[in-house]
Amino acid sequence: MVIKFSDKMNLLTGSEIRELLKLTEKPDIISFAGGLPAPELFPIEELKRIAVCVMEESGKQALQYSTTEGFLPLRKHIAERMLAKNKIKTDPSHILMTSGSQMGLDFSARVFLNKDDIVLLESPSYLGAINAFKASEAKFIEVPTDKEGMIISELEKNLGKEERVKMIYVIPDFQNPSGRTWSLERRQKFMEIVNKYEIPVIEDNPYGELRFEKEILPALKALDTKGLVVYLGTFSKVLVPGYRLGWVCASAEKLEKYNFIEQASSLQASTISQMEVSKYMDLYNLDDHIAKIKEVYRKRRDIMLKTMDEEFPEGVEYTRPEGGLFTWVILPEYINARNMALECIEKKVAYVPGGSFFPNGGHENTFRMNYSCMPEEKIIEGIQRIAEVIKKNMK
Ligand code: PMP
Repeated sequence: MVIKFSDKMNLLTGSEIRELLKLTEKPDIISFAGGLPAPELFPIEELKRIAVCVMEESGKQALQYSTTEGFLPLRKHIAERMLAKNKIKTDPSHILMTSGSQMGLDFSARVFLNKDDIVLLESPSYLGAINAFKASEAKFIEVPTDKEGMIISELEKNLGKEERVKMIYVIPDFQNPSGRTWSLERRQKFMEIVNKYEIPVIEDNPYGELRFEKEILPALKALDTKGLVVYLGTFSKVLVPGYRLGWVCASAEKLEKYNFIEQASSLQASTISQMEVSKYMDLYNLDDHIAKIKEVYRKRRDIMLKTMDEEFPEGVEYTRPEGGLFTWVILPEYINARNMALECIEKKVAYVPGGSFFPNGGHENTFRMNYSCMPEEKIIEGIQRIAEVIKKNMK
């Protein structure tokens, strides 16, 4: 029997990262490949108490369907947090709950993109977003970035000449995969250009609150005077990913479209997840929990960078993130990080080759390293093993 799938299915393959994660699940592998939060830091006892409390107080409501917009008390918590942390002035009516921000990315593609439309994004960019946009048969223009963020002159070059640019996708805080954060000045200049060309921006911010030093910078959405920015938030990295809870914050006109798509796709985000997270925020201080995670991640980042400084040979560059989960390594151009990953797996250490983070290919001399998930002694051991393999590959 020959099944005829839709043409779109030819554009989608399983994420390389998910395939690699399967390989690295073996307990004896030191894996810097995933992007997972550290499970030993999940507040399990507190969430257990919350689950019982929600069931006892409002079990019927928690187990029932609810609105597409989402649970109002949770959206109030989110609006307050966005103001306090990201300087975004908003209210619950501009927030739509989704099943993780990945769903917000998928919806963004469906809201804005037709076949052959162009998405401008940072080079490199988040693989999960690239795949979500590919499903709408979009094309990509990668805008070069430096350590302050997207290079504005390069952005403007493309906005000036390309009519089919329908959206710009960016991760200004502790970007996945590069770990980089845009400076305030770059954010302001970016918004000036965006306002001039009036192109919708998808600002994806799962890591912004995981800042280890200095102050959180205002989100692009906080600098948005024309309602062009669609902001995607999530509880995955600051609390736990298992509830699958994210949100979209956007102007009324745009949010309505997201709402229609959600009605057609999943009806709503999980009622019980929303009620539990909301109750957690009533009874506990999320900031205290985030402070605990940051302390552990900061130490892990420090030990990773220190060991890289000591062990990696000259000619290898890497970013020094001020927060988030990742650092990004650039090898000399003649080394292929995809081939080298196989040598590393033989030595029982893993990372994600960087090529997949560039939708138009190339850059095979790069890789992404996650530091949130391994204890400090394993980080040292793992980096030493990778350093050995790099040295073997150096000319
Ligand atoms: N955006 C970025 C940049 C991410 O790194 C991730 C998760 N790795 C997501 C979105 C999706 O997160 P979630 O669906 O769990 O909210």
